[in-house]
Amino acid sequence: MYPLDKKENCGVFGILGHENAVGLTYLALYSLQHRGEESCGIAVINDEGKISQHTGMGLVPDVFNKDVLESLSGRNAIGHVRYSTTGSSILKNAQPFVISHHKFSVSIAHNGNLTNAVKLKRDLETKGSIFQTTMDSEVVLHLLVRSKKKEIEDRLIEALKDCDGSYSMAVLSEDKLIGVRDPYGFRPLCIGYKDKSYVLASETCALDLIGADFIREVLPGEVVVISKEGIRSIRPFPKRCTSQCIFEYIYFARPDSSIFGDSVYDVRERLGIELAKHHSIKADIVISIPDSGNYAAVGYAKESCIPFEFGMIRNHYVGRTFIQPSQAMRSHSVKIKLNPIKSVLRGKNVIVVEDSIVRGTTTGSRIKTLIEAGVKKIHMRITCPPIKFPCFYGIDFPSRKELIANELSIPEIAEFIKVDSLEYLTLEEMLNAVGKNRDKFCTACFNGVYPTKVHKKTSKSVLEEK
Ligand code: SF4
Repeated sequence: MYPLDKKENCGVFGILGHENAVGLTYLALYSLQHRGEESCGIAVINDEGKISQHTGMGLVPDVFNKDVLESLSGRNAIGHVRYSTTGSSILKNAQPFVISHHKFSVSIAHNGNLTNAVKLKRDLETKGSIFQTTMDSEVVLHLLVRSKKKEIEDRLIEALKDCDGSYSMAVLSEDKLIGVRDPYGFRPLCIGYKDKSYVLASETCALDLIGADFIREVLPGEVVVISKEGIRSIRPFPKRCTSQCIFEYIYFARPDSSIFGDSVYDVRERLGIELAKHHSIKADIVISIPDSGNYAAVGYAKESCIPFEFGMIRNHYVGRTFIQPSQAMRSHSVKIKLNPIKSVLRGKNVIVVEDSIVRGTTTGSRIKTLIEAGVKKIHMRITCPPIKFPCFYGIDFPSRKELIANELSIPEIAEFIKVDSLEYLTLEEMLNAVGKNRDKFCTACFNGVYPTKVHKKTSKSVLEEK
């Protein structure tokens, strides 16, 4: 998936006590690449407590080569892929973060967003802390260092008790790997087992790639401490209303993963079925905006008995390094990533299934290429309600003003993107498709009902101010 106007969050991985910890972490990061294409890194702590680390800007194959991987030695490792939600896109913000304290070494990989990071950072700076990065995750390290507790997991718990917002983390010390999910459970995190070693991963697709067995998900508010003695579960935080990010199902997670107790593929297919049930229209074919729209389009086609066709082909070789061309070349840039198949589309009435519309400009450009390919009519169907509110929990949506559904009505959006009809799933229909545990999801970007207190100053500009 190479998003054009939706930014992704982060992916984490960790493994304790494996001969090939570095190699497996490297492979796992490949499978989590869709969660962050901006920077990535691996940190290793060997049995003597010595930390080695390599981070870099870019995709996993850009950052790691044979020499780099051989320079990282140790049986305990964590890894991270990142797209910034707080902090600039610069190397010093690449994770995992590591610190060597005279009493301990620790490394941290964080997926999520601490909504009170600005306040915590100011308080810490007042007490003398000096920050090396503009990342909210560094706040956790400073709090952890200041804790007077003896065990690393107790230090971490004490630190996180001050933190609001979302965090799924892998934390590595000399002899422990700790996984933690915030009490709301916004982001996924699962536990696997390979060759007598426990692993942690944002999504199960990482376990599949390295041949690890899926054990279970880390529960919202749970801390799992993995050591030579095995695995121990702690529930140190006050219970909160579970609020898993429904957008993980709609767009972010990989379809071959299982998160929040269900297969992402199955949920996406059910979203398409729900669309066909409640937003049907006569047409010749159903197509998707690949790749995330594919699975819902299959569901729509099955339910409506209208044939599914591949109407657009994605170029998988265009990554984040793609440079926006000059204005004169801009019209070509959409087709570099997605090219319509004229023989499939010409003269057809087409239902286009898309996962979401954020700013509307990218969708509008895609529709333009379909019109140029000769489609007769375009009926667009969206697998979630209009996105009207920003996310404070780790998804980098633009500001409220830039969200098209916040500015325009659905008919006005249809006119703006130039489609013959446009319909979205309602909140109720979307939750019907999710099915079980439907009351355990965050839907704040659709209805503005935030599960946590929202701190006003959470933007990166404030975190970065000096
Ligand atoms: S606001 Fe939207 S994107 Fe953010 S956590 Fe909630 S459902 Fe997910």
